[in-house]
Formats: sequence, C-alpha cells, structure tokens
Amino acid sequence: MNTAKRRTVIAGNWKMNFTPAEATAFINAVKPLVAGKNNCDVVFCAPYVTIAAAQAAAAGSNIKIGAENVHFAEKGAYTGEVSAQMLTACGVEYVIIGHSERRQYFGETDETVNLRTKAALAAGMKVILCLGEVKEQRLSGVTDEVVAMQTKLDLKDVSAEELKNVIIAYEPVWAIGTGLTATPEQADETCGVIRATLAKLYGADVAEGVTIQYGGSMNEKNAAELLSKVNVDGGLIGGASLVPEKFAAIVDAAQ
Ligand code: PEP
Repeated sequence: MNTAKRRTVIAGNWKMNFTPAEATAFINAVKPLVAGKNNCDVVFCAPYVTIAAAQAAAAGSNIKIGAENVHFAEKGAYTGEVSAQMLTACGVEYVIIGHSERRQYFGETDETVNLRTKAALAAGMKVILCLGEVKEQRLSGVTDEVVAMQTKLDLKDVSAEELKNVIIAYEPVWAIGTGLTATPEQADETCGVIRATLAKLYGADVAEGVTIQYGGSMNEKNAAELLSKVNVDGGLIGGASLVPEKFAAIVDAAQ
C-alpha cells in the first residue's frame, strides 16, 4: 500500500451467495468489526436481489454496497441484464466488471468489459475492473504481456478523468477460489506491471494515483504480507468475504 498516494480499498465479492435475510445478518455481524477502520474503504459487492437489504443494514456505517456486474446499454431488449442507470437509481456506487468467472462462464471479452466499464463510468459509478492471467499464461512466462494487454483493451477510450473512478483488481485466475495465492512478490510485481502500463497510457502521476487491488484467495492469514507491498492497494476477496471475522481481519491488516 502507498496510502500517501492512493486510497486502500478492501472489497468483498459475494458472488452467488446470500439471500436478503442472510445479507442483513452478515452486515449486522461485520458492521461493528469494521467500524472506525478508516484507513481503507470497505465495500461488499452483492447479487442484485440482495443489494437493497445489504444497503439498509449498512446505512450509517462505513460499509458501501456494490453490484457484481452491469450491462453497457441504458435499457432495451437484454433479458436478465441490469443497466448502470438502474444501479445508480438504487444508490449503488460500486460495480465489479470483468471478473474471471464472467469471462470464463458467461463469454465476456475485453471488448464487452470495456463497453461495460465505459457505461458504468458515464453513469458516475466506481468500477472495480478485474483482470489477470490464467495458469498456462503464468507458466509460459507471458503474465506481463497478458495483463498489459488487458489493461489497454479494458480501458480503451477511458479518459484520465474517468480513471479516477477505476480501481483495478489484479486477480490471477489460478488463485481465485483455489486456496492458491500469488506470493506477495508476484502480486507486487504484476500490480507494478499494470501500473507501468497505466503510466504509458496516462502518465506517471495519474498511474501513481490508481488503486490496484490483489485478489485470489486473500485471507486473514496472508493479507498483511500482501498489503505490505507498495503496489498492492487493497484486496478483492471472495471466500473470506462470507465470514465476518475473516473479512474484518483483512480490514484490520489494512489499517
Ligand atoms: C474473487 O472472486 O474475486 C476472489 C478473489 O475469490 P477468492 O478470494 O475466493 O479467491
């Protein structure tokens, strides 16, 4: 973390977990554990149908509630999709875009990730943009090229001003939900490659201000070491975001 230059963000990705009642119980349990931990922003991204319950439970606290995806059109014949205008009308500020599960199971590409990112930014949302290499790419030594390319394609036509509302989540796909974690050195190095790519696109000053999270089996045991790295500005957390004590310990590690 470099808290002098950029904001640390600890975000949970609930994925397809929690009914509204379960979300309410979870937020009520985690709220006192993260209260006053102001050295980072605390966000939970929830399934669309649990957002309202989570927001109500989080009201008045330092917890913000986001969505897990957004469509790029404002409205129209896109069965099952939700627009940025709909999310902002519900008071949703954050949205995850480009998660590897969306890319892997739902056919999302850098092109659709870019369209969704631009639509969310135009609607005034804050985007948590996920990218990262798969195992074969890491083993073949092309991780740097892969994340640089994703950074360029996913942020095509995003202005420096809009970039202020982008958080990048570096998520090596082989580490998501697997219990495998990038070493702190690997996480720092690849987040550094993403930052260097941003510097080429937007200039060094702008790049230094961008929050770049690590995601991939971050938990209460490994968070402090990962967050101690200068280029790791927070975490996007799946499994450990479903357990109040584990998530709160990660927020503690960011203080
Ligand atoms: C994620 O889904 O973004 C993630 C990092 O999951 P996990 O922490 O379970 O690996």
